[in-house]
Amino acid sequence: MATAMLSGRIALVTGAGSGIGRAVCQVLAREGAAVAAVDINQTSAEKTVGDLQPITSSPNCHHPFAADVSDSKVVEDLVGMVKKRYEGVPSILVNAAGITRDNFLLKLDEKSFDEVIKVNLKGTYLMTKAIAQLMVENSQPGSIVNIASIVGKVGNIGQANYAASKSGVEGLTKTVAKEMGRYGIRCNSVLPGFIDTPMTEAVPEKVIDNMRKMIPAGRTGKPEEVAEACLFLASDRSSYITGISLEVAGGLFM
Ligand code: NAP
Repeated sequence: MATAMLSGRIALVTGAGSGIGRAVCQVLAREGAAVAAVDINQTSAEKTVGDLQPITSSPNCHHPFAADVSDSKVVEDLVGMVKKRYEGVPSILVNAAGITRDNFLLKLDEKSFDEVIKVNLKGTYLMTKAIAQLMVENSQPGSIVNIASIVGKVGNIGQANYAASKSGVEGLTKTVAKEMGRYGIRCNSVLPGFIDTPMTEAVPEKVIDNMRKMIPAGRTGKPEEVAEACLFLASDRSSYITGISLEVAGGLFM
């Protein structure tokens, strides 16, 4: 039997209670990682962990954590709890927590703009800084995967706040890759296209139909398909890849 790709590794995943984050937890656990599943919603993080494939060959196990990634004090406490709970430090971080507050620019209020930047961009910065710090202190090489969006590359009507936050995540990713390479820490972005998750459930069927016509693959994506790309970037299979933006969009806006 082939050895699991992430055997003995600790992976922290944010936005773990739903959609892409939950699928990432499932795929990383399948490959033998002990998963620290972080979500703002304790119940949904617990549900994710309850459904994960158990690990047998490690002193560490999967564990749910409730935390708001956009709050620096909460992130500090979270890192303290993770340190206490696990033997060793995470060598994988996947930042999947994200929100939308869509509106056309002329109707987009400051609160909706700030909220999206705070979770999507500042939250990614806070988590990346905190876990990179832990990796460096413990001489632990690692891989950080940030979920950005194809919308950050091309913009999207009604999503000025969201597109700006996701372009920001790509800029952050490339800078982290440049600064942290010397510590053996890689940092990459994944750019999903249109993926079937609770985040996209509210999009009207007519809009989805029009979107489908623009996707060379002819369909929307599954969270598992994004998760497999995250696994590749998290694992040593991508050991010479850092600072990239990997599109998982069925060819949309290539
Ligand atoms: P989702 O199903 O809504 O999952 C996002 C998760 O993040 C939810 O469990 C949410 O909790 C959690 N969350 C929200 N704010 C948080 C915070 N401050 N701290 C910690 N957790 C928080 O959405 P998704 O589609 O899986 O999205 C995952 C990531 O992929 C996001 O970054 C999103 O922008 C990105 N993305 C998605 C698509 C797509 O088509 N679905 C496309 C491109 C990029 P609550 O549900 O309780 O708010």
